[in-house]
Amino acid sequence: MRAVSFAIEPNPSPVAVEERSARLVDPGFGRVFTDHMATMRWSEAQGWHDGRISARQPFQIDPASAVLHYAQEIFEGLKAYRLDDGALALFRPEANARRFQRSARRMAMPELPEELFLSSIRALVRTDADWVPAQDGGSLYLRPFLIASEVFLGVKPASEYLYVVLASSAGSYWKGGTRAVSLWVSHDYSRAAIGGTGEAKCGGNYAASLVAQQEAIRRGYDQVVFLDAAERRWIEELGGMNIFFVFADGTIRTPPLTGTILPGITRDSILQLLRDEGLRVEEAPYAIDDWRADAQSGRVTESFACGTAAVVTPIGQVAGPDYAFTVGSGATGQVTQRILDRLTAIQRGRAPDPHGWLQRI
Ligand code: PMP
Repeated sequence: MRAVSFAIEPNPSPVAVEERSARLVDPGFGRVFTDHMATMRWSEAQGWHDGRISARQPFQIDPASAVLHYAQEIFEGLKAYRLDDGALALFRPEANARRFQRSARRMAMPELPEELFLSSIRALVRTDADWVPAQDGGSLYLRPFLIASEVFLGVKPASEYLYVVLASSAGSYWKGGTRAVSLWVSHDYSRAAIGGTGEAKCGGNYAASLVAQQEAIRRGYDQVVFLDAAERRWIEELGGMNIFFVFADGTIRTPPLTGTILPGITRDSILQLLRDEGLRVEEAPYAIDDWRADAQSGRVTESFACGTAAVVTPIGQVAGPDYAFTVGSGATGQVTQRILDRLTAIQRGRAPDPHGWLQRI
């Protein structure tokens, strides 16, 4: 393979230092962007080429670009954290690189070599390191994505693609401590069917989930839970997080990866940490009726959701069309808090990292 890398072209008019500081006081999520972005193109003739880190700005895209019509698009989400010694670090970025490749295969797109994915992220984080908020828990959220840029209205895999990485300053998710979320179980909408795109991180999955999430909000709940599409019985995941159940006998269960669920990197890390501790963990199906009965009987004591954004989120109230129940005390359980603390300690470089998950930049 030709040596391909990212040429750095500094933004000639970056945001002024005082203005940047003002934006970083309370950045929230997904609205404050850095001065640069990474881009690279792919074509049948040239393969991956034209990698650069340059000023973040709108790009021109032809209205007939395939992505705008047939949604041939995939993305990733990961964070760079500031460690106590001032260095920046990524958490398991190679796992995101591999998931990006699997998503690409499912959507008939070219696979970005792992090394290019990693070097695009490292180069962008180094260039925009000043955009990591100083507050404890602040991070730089990285959003790599790949779009079909060929100008053609026929339905087929495109012959040209554009890869982009954005960086966005993110505040601490848990300002003021953890808060249990309430969930609406969708019995009308499903997220993914067997043979569909559920395990790929493609934009279309999220477009299809919005109406269910909207219903959850309208009914007064924070998030939606999806059931399997075939039987409408097995718990799958939330719109953007995987789910775990803690039993009174110490067993911890999460739904298995059968192709309809996004294989979360936080999910995988939690399974590994629990196995390291010698706890009994099961990747096994769990029915919504059983969750309800077990929460009511006390057989299930805690449940939590997990993902890059919040790491671990306790689940309090759960409801469906004709039922409602509370998990445990309705607040953050002990096991949930312990897992959150363990994982965030590793991510911040404050605890031993036996699996080498943290990659300093
Ligand atoms: N499920 C879905 C549908 C998601 O969008 C995400 C966020 N990427 C997750 C689970 C959690 O994945 P991760 O732990 O890799 O962030």
